Amino acid sequence: MLLKDKVAIITGAASIRGLGRATAVLFAQQGAKVVIADLDEQASINAAKALPGEGHLGVAINVADEAQVQQAMEKILAKYGRIDVLVNNAGITQPLKVMDIQSGHYDAVLDVSLRGTLLMSQAVIPSMRKQKSGSIVCISSVSAQRGGGIFGGPHYSAAKAGVLGLAKAMARELGNDGIRVNCITPGLIQTDITQGKLSDTQKANIIAGIPLNRLGEAIDIARAALFLASDLASYSTGITLDVNGGMHM
Ligand code: NAD
Repeated sequence: MLLKDKVAIITGAASIRGLGRATAVLFAQQGAKVVIADLDEQASINAAKALPGEGHLGVAINVADEAQVQQAMEKILAKYGRIDVLVNNAGITQPLKVMDIQSGHYDAVLDVSLRGTLLMSQAVIPSMRKQKSGSIVCISSVSAQRGGGIFGGPHYSAAKAGVLGLAKAMARELGNDGIRVNCITPGLIQTDITQGKLSDTQKANIIAGIPLNRLGEAIDIARAALFLASDLASYSTGITLDVNGGMHM
């Protein structure tokens, strides 16, 4: 088992078809104690209960709210006393054109993806530093690399590009503490975030540009997250793992 008895927090992991949930299931199958950290407390608790194995936890958290992050972290540390892995997965998108973005849209998208990634990382770093080990995995997007063109607006591309920069800067700063920080840039994966946002024709056009000839599945991202979270990636930090079927290379 690749994550035996490791404590792994995954944000935004309550959504049943989401990348976070698939990652939580795979991590639990690999022996991890998983903390599902999502907006709704009951949904997080239910998602944690449904995981294979025992000792998981569901907590309510808005990753963009510093007080809530601190509160949740106290609960997590009281139960486990350590944190080995953080997956910064929570994110939202809005399919807007540049001239339609108002400051409320900007704040909402940037707050979850970018501020959330910073606040959650700041919350786990002290424990990881103490342990002299830890892995932080940040979910960015191919939209950051291509300038969108899938379903998110320019502010989403900006938020996800910000995540890439933040992750690399943290990787550089924290390597000496035994903490690795890496990113995944998913292509178009079939989850609730994409559900209903694309017509069949749009989907077919996107697939025509994907060398592997299909949209991604949540498990494709979960496997990449497992690699980066575990010792399989013990000499990788500051990297960006493209999981997009060849859509961007
Ligand atoms: P999803 O909508 O299924 O899941 C997102 C989860 O984040 C939900 O459970 C939601 O409740 C949670 N969330 C939203 N705001 C939150 C907040 N403030 N605090 C805590 N949790 C919050 O979406 P998904 O497709 O599984 O996306 C997961 C991540 O992958 C996101 O960061 C998304 O931007 C990224 N991504 C997805 C795709 C794709 O094609 N699905 C592609 C590239 C990147």
